[in-house]
Amino acid sequence: MLQKTSHFMRQANLINGEWVQADSGQTIDVTNPANGLKIGTVPKAGAAETRRAIEAAHTAFLTWRKTSALERSKLLRKLHDAIMDNQDALAELLTTEQGKSLFESRGEVGSSAAYVLWFAEEGRRTYGDVVPSPWADRRIMVTKEPVGVVAAITPWNFPSSMLARKLGPALAAGCTAVVKPATQTPYSALAWGALAEEVGFPKGVVNIVTGAAGEIGDELCFNPLVKKITFTGSTPVGKMLIEKSAKTVKKVSMELGGNAPFIVFDDANLDRAVEGAITAKFRNSGQTCVCTNRFFVQAGIHDTFVERLAAATAKLKVGSGLEDGVQQGPLIDEKAALKTAEFVADAKAKGGKVETGGKPHALGGSFFEPTVISGATPDMMFMKEEIFGPVAPVFKFETEEEAVRLANDTEFGLACYFYTGDLGRAFRVMEGLKYGMVGINEGLITTPEAPFGGVKESGLGKEGGHQGIEDYLDTKYVCIGGL
Ligand code: ADP
Repeated sequence: MLQKTSHFMRQANLINGEWVQADSGQTIDVTNPANGLKIGTVPKAGAAETRRAIEAAHTAFLTWRKTSALERSKLLRKLHDAIMDNQDALAELLTTEQGKSLFESRGEVGSSAAYVLWFAEEGRRTYGDVVPSPWADRRIMVTKEPVGVVAAITPWNFPSSMLARKLGPALAAGCTAVVKPATQTPYSALAWGALAEEVGFPKGVVNIVTGAAGEIGDELCFNPLVKKITFTGSTPVGKMLIEKSAKTVKKVSMELGGNAPFIVFDDANLDRAVEGAITAKFRNSGQTCVCTNRFFVQAGIHDTFVERLAAATAKLKVGSGLEDGVQQGPLIDEKAALKTAEFVADAKAKGGKVETGGKPHALGGSFFEPTVISGATPDMMFMKEEIFGPVAPVFKFETEEEAVRLANDTEFGLACYFYTGDLGRAFRVMEGLKYGMVGINEGLITTPEAPFGGVKESGLGKEGGHQGIEDYLDTKYVCIGGL
């Protein structure tokens, strides 16, 4: 099944340019969530291997930081081309370990390449300043320097593109990296190692370790050679990493949980709203941090919207991501399916009505039916907790003020969406929503050109945009006197 990808499927760690096993020889099985079958293994590395990877990255940094921005840009462009030349093979590998449809995997691989290209370009524009001096005999200069060794910890929902957003700017800025991919989906990240090696990144610039998350994480946080932690994942783990890395005062970038509201006003274009709703909710079977968690629909169009959303949801084709035409793959594991069922049971017990779906899918395993629930109320679990599954709860509201208040009633602040045909309302609501990203009449807004990131407990820092490289740079003020 994986013949096309075998070249990229590395069942080893990349440390200082060598593909190696764990010191203990122990491995972890990696399975295909669509059928539960083992795909292969990866090393179960721990603190010692991580320390060696950090030391390799540190040594490599001493020369990598001196390369020109143009030189790094050229290598990154080669990496972009290599990713695109192998888009199908990488997508197949991604679907096999992660579950999403091949269509979405191809999109993710394409997006990864696009981030690499963007940062290949941005790396050449890390301008400093020459500042007017208050002293006649001194000049003020501000320069930007790479921070040093970067630790990147990535999640299983976007095993390729989350890495692209971190490795792209890190390498472009002149940093080196130690990557720890999610245990469920390590092969897409290891494929990055193979590609980086192939296009000519020097040894030690990119290192990848798999294994015991806690042990690897602790070494990355406590080792003083690591200057920055960049993490995408759950809020509790993110908070812990911030706390631990405080001991050595590291820079941190955190892309944490979301609780995206999707507001539809009476004056919205309903066709667009339903289409956007399907994308914003069911992409990756609801397993993205920017997926809609709560739909708020104004009373005047509520019933029509629910009916149309349920009809569109019922049409989604569920199956193995590798099958033609499948739109909804399995959830990452059975635990995720059980958790999804818990959200549905809680809503039903509190008066919610299942409009479509609502139970584990007949395919079994971690498949769950795409679900719409009407009659959602603030006491239901999904008001506060991220669903991370294919369940669309719909709340009914009356006024603009009420919608904004409910939408903001969460400690998260990543993405939000709303649909309206009224320009004044568009501005009022946009300014009222405490979120890092807003889609107005759009349900899919991520792109390398724009700064992705949250406020409140959704995180710190931005990925993408011209802001995305700043987090990998230190600002140095230079005062030249005695002129
Ligand atoms: P998710 O819900 O996406 O699995 P996690 O925050 O658990 O979110 O996982 C995101 C990444 O963080 C994964 O690579 C995971 O292995 C890693 N991780 C989990 N626990 C720790 C930890 N204690 N220290 C460092 N990394 C961790």
